[in-house]
Amino acid sequence: MNEYDSERIAGRLEGLGFIAGTDIFSSDLVVLNTCSVRAKPEQKTASLLGKLRRNRDKTGLPQAVGVMGCMAQDKGAELIKRFKNVDFVLGTDRIERLNDLIKEIGGGKKFIDTAQGGEFFVEQFGRKKGVTAKITIMKGCNNFCSYCIVPYVRGRETCRNKADIISEAERLIESGVKDITLLGQNVNSYISEDGRSFPDLLAETAAISKGVRIRFVTSHPKDFNERLAEVIKEHKNICPLIHIPLQSGSDRILKVMNRGYTADSYLDKLRKAAEITPSLRFSTDIIVGFPGESEADFLKTAEVFREVEYETAYIFNYSPRSGTRAYKLPDEIPLKEKTRRLEYLLSIQEEITEKRYKAALGETVQVLAESVSKKDPFQLSGRTEYNRVVNFKAEKASPGDMVKVRITEVKKNTLSGRSDY
Ligand code: SAH
Ligand code: SF4
Repeated sequence: MNEYDSERIAGRLEGLGFIAGTDIFSSDLVVLNTCSVRAKPEQKTASLLGKLRRNRDKTGLPQAVGVMGCMAQDKGAELIKRFKNVDFVLGTDRIERLNDLIKEIGGGKKFIDTAQGGEFFVEQFGRKKGVTAKITIMKGCNNFCSYCIVPYVRGRETCRNKADIISEAERLIESGVKDITLLGQNVNSYISEDGRSFPDLLAETAAISKGVRIRFVTSHPKDFNERLAEVIKEHKNICPLIHIPLQSGSDRILKVMNRGYTADSYLDKLRKAAEITPSLRFSTDIIVGFPGESEADFLKTAEVFREVEYETAYIFNYSPRSGTRAYKLPDEIPLKEKTRRLEYLLSIQEEITEKRYKAALGETVQVLAESVSKKDPFQLSGRTEYNRVVNFKAEKASPGDMVKVRITEVKKNTLSGRSDY
């Protein structure tokens, strides 16, 4: 989602005549698109703003600085007060304000706009031309998981018109895109203007996208049903990978997290889906060290984690977020212990990935070529339907081609091979 917003911001600035730079310290304008889901990305932003300020004081070069995204939404005026070099702060629903604001910055004037809501705004220009593209289908979230700041900084759930989504997909395909990701905080709670659910939207998108891969993130377990697995089975161009965050395997913790499912109901849904579509694989997000998570709770998470054998997993230490319900609970698990739990899950994931990679050796997989190596024009890089990066040799392929690649080498995090004509 944030990556998509960064693309929108960059596209809009380019549309306004700015040229993307490579060195933020010598740029005339720096816009930081921020995340506030955990404390760490917030600290990174603060540290970067400090560095920019020291650099400006040292060099005396005029530089405008804007902060956008979730942290801008959450902190607003506080950012301008704390960082004297910040000229403007725009909230998550205010990207289009760049248009009028950019002409006025400089000369010590400061701007803040963090109003939320309004039209579902979609950029009509400035999208990076490439093989892959994202389409946002909904924004915001109504789930209020007790640890999560997203409903506060992104606002309530709003779904985009299905007709608009389909026409954006058509436009992208016409421009040469071969891999489309439908994006939303919780895609499977999508409802269209004519009352259709996410599986219907997915089926319709897949049907008009022959020869183009369709992906989607993120799916919430509580809204997940078998119909999604059926649609994936019916459409060969939908990638059979579902990002469906477990967060915890302990029912007690899941309840306090307000996730709306139990470990068993989660596993049951995944099992049924895999029965319908055996090629399905899953990926997840996990939070370790949530307030009150005992060793027994954690081991339940590890058990589910082992059982599902995820394709990939993003594992986070719990980070208290001011304004959320869990913020009131004591964050009593020491960082060292959170990190031990995190590393334990990572080691399980490494084992699973290694096993998968070893099994892939000698296999032929379909790879969508996305880029060519700068050093060698016959060396390409692309992804499988399970989102695995594969580097491969091919004499006749170029980005946008679907290539059969035989995997000849497996390293820790990469698969390498050659095209199998
Ligand atoms: N809507 C998506 C996730 C959005 S946030 C979903 O419900 O799955 C992305 C991930 O950040 C979450 O899945 C969660 O694992 C993590 N996260 C959110 N708040 C967090 C917090 N306070 N501390 C640690 N991780 C958090
Ligand atoms: Fe946050 Fe939960 Fe909404 Fe995901 S579903 S964005 S974790 S509140």
